[in-house]
Amino acid sequence: MNTTDLKKALQGAMRGEVTDDAAALATNSRDTSLFERKPELVVYPEDANDVSAVVKEVGCARSSGVEVSLAARSAGTDMSGGPLTTGVVVSFIKHMNKMGEVGDDFAVTEPGVFYRDFEKATLEKGLILPSYPASREIAAMGGIVANNSGGERTLEYGKTEKYIEEVEVVLSDGSQTTFKALTPSELEEKKAVQTLEGSIYREMDALLADNAALIEEHRPKVSKNSAGYGLWNIRDAKTSTFNLAKLICGSQGTLALWTKAKLKLVKPKEHSAMLIVFLSSLDILPEIVKRVLVQEPESFESFDDHTFSLAVKFLPQMLSQMGLIRATKLGIDFIPEALMVATGGVQKLLLMAEFAEDTAEEADRKAVAAQTALADLNLRTKIEKNEKESEKYWIIRRESFNLLRKNVHGLHTAPFIDDFVVPPSCYPEFLPKLNALLDEYKSHFIYTIAGHIGNGNFHIIPLMDLTKEENRQVILDLAPRVYELVIKEGGTTTGEHNDGIIRTPYLPMLFGEEMVALFEKTKKIFDPLNILNPGKKVGGTFADIKRDMLRDVA
Ligand SMILES: Cc1cc2nc3c(=O)[nH]c(=O)nc-3n(C[C@H](O)[C@H](O)[C@H](O)COP(=O)(O)OP(=O)(O)OC[C@H]3O[C@@H](n4cnc5c(N)ncnc54)[C@H](O)[C@@H]3O)c2cc1C
Repeated sequence: MNTTDLKKALQGAMRGEVTDDAAALATNSRDTSLFERKPELVVYPEDANDVSAVVKEVGCARSSGVEVSLAARSAGTDMSGGPLTTGVVVSFIKHMNKMGEVGDDFAVTEPGVFYRDFEKATLEKGLILPSYPASREIAAMGGIVANNSGGERTLEYGKTEKYIEEVEVVLSDGSQTTFKALTPSELEEKKAVQTLEGSIYREMDALLADNAALIEEHRPKVSKNSAGYGLWNIRDAKTSTFNLAKLICGSQGTLALWTKAKLKLVKPKEHSAMLIVFLSSLDILPEIVKRVLVQEPESFESFDDHTFSLAVKFLPQMLSQMGLIRATKLGIDFIPEALMVATGGVQKLLLMAEFAEDTAEEADRKAVAAQTALADLNLRTKIEKNEKESEKYWIIRRESFNLLRKNVHGLHTAPFIDDFVVPPSCYPEFLPKLNALLDEYKSHFIYTIAGHIGNGNFHIIPLMDLTKEENRQVILDLAPRVYELVIKEGGTTTGEHNDGIIRTPYLPMLFGEEMVALFEKTKKIFDPLNILNPGKKVGGTFADIKRDMLRDVA
């Protein structure tokens, strides 16, 4: 079967469109990672039955010996290469983008709904999904669930895995089912069914039981992790339930395609105050983090001097995305920052600790307490008393990666050590070693650091000339050296951006061969033909990284 035959078969099997149009293939060959993979076809399913039809056709072709597979795609903002494939892209963004019911503490959604639209709907009930990513304006629910996304409120609220309750999925044989919390007797009923779903329940239950000690031993020790499969999350000891929705969350479309999800929501606290700390040296950072965390900020974020200067430089471009009145107000708010850049007064790192509470007084009290706790350190600090005052800092923080991606020409953003997590307690030993290591490579790239400083989650985004072989080699040389430091401290390679093409080959280094064998077994249980996004989570190689890296001029 060639591409033309597969296209015809797919067109005959589904209501939505199938295309090999050059523009569609080009758009779908990129995400926001440093990779490019050109698909053969892109399909736009209308509903879950269409998704089933696509999976069945691709499975059929694969069974008859054709090397074809598929990858799910929602908004395509992944930074790891997760939605890239040389096979069939199943794009949810065009049709499967409807919001379902929003209840008193939950919402139902399709994967193609942009987070910004999801939140509009949930805010009508005064609720939010607190694990939204910094890419909240451009990402969709598809990837938020499939990557197990986290963001600025994760310090207080945790990641998407905590909020996912149910997912409707299409399995690798094209059958449809719903994964949700099952009681022990419901689990036994499911295990008795002689279908792929039944065998998934039988084999996953056995895998967890047979390897309980090994799995527990490798439970991530940091507060956020998107590496590997979340085998720790399936069983809930408190409720004695078994929920495979928790495993689908974070699995990057390698175990099943999800078509509808029910997510728990929270009521955000109404008042906030933000402590801003300007830092001229990183030496004192560990002490600051320790003291501020005592006051339990809802968010504790940071960005560096490069990000700050870029934000001021590209202010008109950033503000042009907003309405005239808001842009004018923010333009005025940014005058002190513009002066800092003009006079060379930008500090190495800016920290933002936001305290959210039910009353303005309580939020303010906590911000002041954190500020007082830092008083003897002789730092420049200030308190922004409400969301309007702190907005400009949030804009820079959320836009940090986009600022680089869109505005620095001639160099590519190269996310390859973009998301590791270490316990904040290790900063005194870890940060000097990391700085020394990055310094060794400074002739190859410039970089910005932003991140969730309270969680120990760092986003280091190098800017590189990828036309040069020596620079591409740096990506393969430096990443394992950084991960060695991270792993030594009990950290993880990815807190939220996930494994994709760029990090799957490091899973043995992070978890060891025995755990990786469990991930491989999990993949086989769900997807015996290996048609769902192969090479991500399981089976990805360094050769994949080398082969598919961008090498054009940015
Ligand atoms: C500026 C910027 C900032 C970012 N900040 C953050 C951040 O703070 N936190 C964070 O977590 N991430 C962040 N990201 C990465 C990314 O935006 C998020 O992970 C986001 O949730 C991905 O959503 P998406 O819809 O674009 O996913 P896509 O890129 O479309 O897909 C992501 C993965 O999910 C799979 N997938 C998509 N839909 C489905 C489906 N229906 N069924 C099964 N699998 C599916 C894909 O195959 C792929 O592996 C950032 C990216 C950018 C560009």
